[in-house]
Amino acid sequence: MPRYAYRCLGECEDAIQVTHGIDDRLEECPACKEAVRKMLTIPISLAAQTAASVTAKPGALVDAYIKEVKEELRQQKKEVRGDIDV
Ligand SMILES: [Zn+2]
Repeated sequence: MPRYAYRCLGECEDAIQVTHGIDDRLEECPACKEAVRKMLTIPISLAAQTAASVTAKPGALVDAYIKEVKEELRQQKKEVRGDIDV
């Protein structure tokens, strides 16, 4: 499974790395239960995979990154809409 990086928005302000499915999302800091912000990173397992085959598939890393950015934007839009509804 890919690994993702989050940053705690609560008092510990920690960087958190979690491994979860591509459709999952960490909702709260495991330490203080405050909200977390997803950091825009390429999953480490994918990056390692891509690094191994970077000369063979130069587009793979870019495709993965674009997908990640789109997902991030989609999540942010959802959050903004949620705020307006409340
Ligand atoms: Zn925390």
